[in-house]
Amino acid sequence: MSSKHPSFFQSVERNFDKAAIHTGLPKGLLEQIKVCNAVYQMRFPVKIGKDYHVIEAYRVQHSHHRLPTKGGIRYSMAVNQDEVMALAALMTYKCAIVDVPFGGAKGGLKIDPRSYKEADLQKITRRYTTELIRKNFIGPGIDVPAPDYGTGSREMAWILDTYQTFKNGEIDSAGCVTGKPVNQHGINGRTEATGRGVFYSLREVVSYKEDMAKLGLTPGIAGKTMVVQGLGNVGYYAAKISIEEGDVKLIGVSEYEGAIYKEDGLDLDALMKHRKKTGSILDFPGAKNLKKREDALELECDILVPAALENQITKENAPRIKAKIIAEAANGPVMADAEDILLKKGIMVIPDMYINAGGVTVSYFEWLKNLSHMRFGRMQKRFDHNTYMNLMTTVEEMTGKKIGTKEKLLITRGAEEIDLVNSGLEETMVYAYQEIRQIFKKKKDIKDLRTAAFVSALNKISSDYMTLGIFP
Ligand code: NAD
Repeated sequence: MSSKHPSFFQSVERNFDKAAIHTGLPKGLLEQIKVCNAVYQMRFPVKIGKDYHVIEAYRVQHSHHRLPTKGGIRYSMAVNQDEVMALAALMTYKCAIVDVPFGGAKGGLKIDPRSYKEADLQKITRRYTTELIRKNFIGPGIDVPAPDYGTGSREMAWILDTYQTFKNGEIDSAGCVTGKPVNQHGINGRTEATGRGVFYSLREVVSYKEDMAKLGLTPGIAGKTMVVQGLGNVGYYAAKISIEEGDVKLIGVSEYEGAIYKEDGLDLDALMKHRKKTGSILDFPGAKNLKKREDALELECDILVPAALENQITKENAPRIKAKIIAEAANGPVMADAEDILLKKGIMVIPDMYINAGGVTVSYFEWLKNLSHMRFGRMQKRFDHNTYMNLMTTVEEMTGKKIGTKEKLLITRGAEEIDLVNSGLEETMVYAYQEIRQIFKKKKDIKDLRTAAFVSALNKISSDYMTLGIFP
């Protein structure tokens, strides 16, 4: 980042410092929470065709106050040490906010995955995993990666296979990475978890009448207009679930190749088909192409969801943002100095370390599933179903009336894994917001949700350190 803007890590540190003054915690303890505990920077060669590519890669473990550490792996040309450190730090605070018992970590490879064949990406991923094993930077009780920008379940399967090749016989080895394909020790609901979490959070945030009145909005998610930047894993599912389960109107979308707008709402499935067919979201029938992809950020809407990369809202474009609510589905999309401008304009910013925590929450469920070596719901699904059936039969006998087959099936259904995962995710996102909101309401000198979220995280992390006796 140029000198006129803080770097991503500096942005995170600035937000940390802003919140730290509200905690009353000792300086040394705050310093220990703030720093990155371990930074592993590596270079390794991979043979691509006839050439050797020297890959620049990182794994940062920000905090060891809880183990294992946890965080995604990013493939992008923008990867550098500062970025990975910032993302690892955000993971620590994120885990604390949603009560996931991990320290924060993050990995990054400075590559453009689009410029490699699948077989070469596999080689790179396996070699990176080997480097992590070599330095003891991966393992179910050490450090557990997951997908992030530019990676998905395919890469996680390669990581798992490489790990198990080296750690033959390690009983919990499937827990060395999360976000795996469901048939490779993954969990139902992980792929869409971050986007689904964004939806649960939004629904909760907009449900408070007094908070919405301040923004000039009515409470309730239905009918709210939304603009999404980045239709990748997070952005696509955030939009899809908000439309299908929240009746939200998606009016604008920005992608790599440009941006489009449609006042009366875009049909997301049709748009995805159009992009698959033409290779672009542009020229979508009925929608208007915008001049630049960044223009979508400045559209008038109720909810703006930046779901691509960091540093998208800067002090340059912040004065032109017209959204009432910004939901930071990506990590760090609003720069610290831009946020000051947004807050002055009365815009509500829902911070990344809360609103995109759905991914790590369901990763935690996946890790627990791996350690228990059993699918969620396997023990109780039939038992619950039979119990409810007995209850229905008793009700029928007592009333002399028959309950319809369809109704009976609905009432007596035992929970599948996906039901339990979504229920756990919903509870996590709602509960965490209530904690943040309580801090925000109670402490009058806290003016924004990010500071309140940081205070929530710092209270929990400091309490861990104190209980450990490190900082009595
Ligand atoms: P992804 O690679 O699946 O999708 C990102 C999308 O953004 C791509 O479609 C890409 O073309 C698009 N994009 C890139 N630059 C853009 C630009 N300038 N304008 C518009 N679109 C652009 O990545 P993802 O996993 O969805 O991650 C997106 C963000 O969410 C990242 O900040 C990531 O750290 C964060 N995040 C991801 C997860 C997860 O579970 N995957 C969890 C928490 C946070």
